Amino acid sequence: AKKLGRNNFQFYTPSMNEDAMERVRIEGALRNALERDEFVLHYQPQVDLATGEIVGMEALLRWQHPEMGMVAPSRFIGVAEETGLIVQIGAWVMRAACQQNQTWQDEGLGKLRVAVNLSARQFGAANLIADIRRVLAETGLAPACLEIELTESLFMSDVTLAVELLHGMKALGVNLSIDDFGTGYSSLSYLSRFPIDVLKIDRSFVAEITRDSNDAAIVASIIALAHNLKLAVIAEGVETEEQLDYLRRHGCDEMQGYYFSRPLPAEEFEQLVRQQRRL
Ligand code: C2E
Ligand code: CA
Ligand code: CA
Ligand code: CA
Repeated sequence: AKKLGRNNFQFYTPSMNEDAMERVRIEGALRNALERDEFVLHYQPQVDLATGEIVGMEALLRWQHPEMGMVAPSRFIGVAEETGLIVQIGAWVMRAACQQNQTWQDEGLGKLRVAVNLSARQFGAANLIADIRRVLAETGLAPACLEIELTESLFMSDVTLAVELLHGMKALGVNLSIDDFGTGYSSLSYLSRFPIDVLKIDRSFVAEITRDSNDAAIVASIIALAHNLKLAVIAEGVETEEQLDYLRRHGCDEMQGYYFSRPLPAEEFEQLVRQQRRL
């Protein structure tokens, strides 16, 4: 038995599988990660398909743990959501991403839009709108330079609350995008009821567009749907030139994926933009 607190014992039995043990370990370490300054953001370029220019970036969370090393989001975001720790962590992400973007603009990097992932747990937390407004005011970032990525699951719970919060965020002047579009179970009716700006095609569709005619048809249809609704559309997980060609031929606005660049540490992202913009 491992002693956790004065009266709390956590027993590891042989039946407790490795997943559960890892989860316990992650949860404990996650509680201290913010104060120990163990998080960093990596930035993945978002590229305009017509011009080839980097127009923005998605901020992706990385956790540098002293013993576990770099921990991937797939290993800790779920735990952070279940425990509610994602609310504080997400607030840190929002602030750090806005701060970094404003710093780059102050340094003459030019206009960039930063996309930040918002978990459903944050969506439900109090003061979300006020918190975003404060971050924008304190960092000085123009609201149009912030994009908030939401998932469809948000639209299935409390629709009245969702409508209110989305309009509240929209009123701040930020952009709203639907992440992993097409993978959720919600009805399309929310597209006409919520003030969405961007659809982000899930990479599971993009992965197969040159091999699976159904996925190709779905991607073409999402692009058409977005444009008919006057929304922008971005494809994620673009890994090959063939995928890129298909997306370009079908009028997709932007792309993000390993084909152009992996998510990069801030300094490397900055170098890439400077190189491209000849700064
Ligand atoms: P996501 O929001 O769908 O982010 C895109 C994921 O796809 C990232 O994984 C990115 O590294 C990966 N990716 C980008 N291009 C390619 C590609 O060409 N091929 C493949 N196979 N993958 C690609 P990552 O960084 O491991 O993040 C995984 C998930 O963790 C994210 O999926 C998001 O749901 C969550 N996440 C990451 N950062 C945050 C955060 O700050 N807050 C919240 N709430 N969730 C986050
Ligand atoms: Ca995302
Ligand atoms: Ca996604
Ligand atoms: Ca995803």
